[in-house]
Amino acid sequence: MAVEQTLVLVKPDGLVKSLTGDIILKLSSPKRKIMGAKIVTVTKELAEEHYKHLKDKPFFDELIRYIMGEFHTPRIMALVYEGKDAVKEIRDIAGSTNPEEAHPESMRGKYGRITTGGVFENVIHASENKKEAEREVKLWFKPTELVSTIYPVVEREVKKKEYIWKSDLKK
Ligand code: UDP
Ligand code: MG
Repeated sequence: MAVEQTLVLVKPDGLVKSLTGDIILKLSSPKRKIMGAKIVTVTKELAEEHYKHLKDKPFFDELIRYIMGEFHTPRIMALVYEGKDAVKEIRDIAGSTNPEEAHPESMRGKYGRITTGGVFENVIHASENKKEAEREVKLWFKPTELVSTIYPVVEREVKKKEYIWKSDLKK
């Protein structure tokens, strides 16, 4: 099996339930490395792009509100893992999409629930396959946010404003 990368999101329900530690522990293995990690407030644009394959589903609007944190907290934790067979192994640890059908020891089986509105609040996202993983890693992370660039990069000159700490202004 080849070394591959995959995107993991601890969804807003995972954050309010303090499950980041459990999830990172469960994903820990000498076979895998964390290549990038950050806390993100998910914009509507990012949410809709991430879940674009589901835009015709009746639960799409609720799903977007869920991943943006409207029902919990407006944050997710995004992680990129790299390792042999990482996509499938992490999907297996996450468990089936429907938390009622997920293996009881999987993250979704253990901690997920179905809301009265019918949304699967299943705590964790994991890329489905290698192609989706590449699309998702590139959507959530800039090359410079990863410890190695993983995919081919090019240099581009940009002029833009940035926030710095006010106390660093005179340095
Ligand atoms: N989802 C849902 N109801 C469904 C199918 C999916 O609420 O019938 C939500 C659930 O949170 C899921 C996400 O939409 O994780 C993305 O769906 P997908 O089919 O891509 O499943 P996943 O890849 O997350 O297992
Ligand atoms: Mg999916």
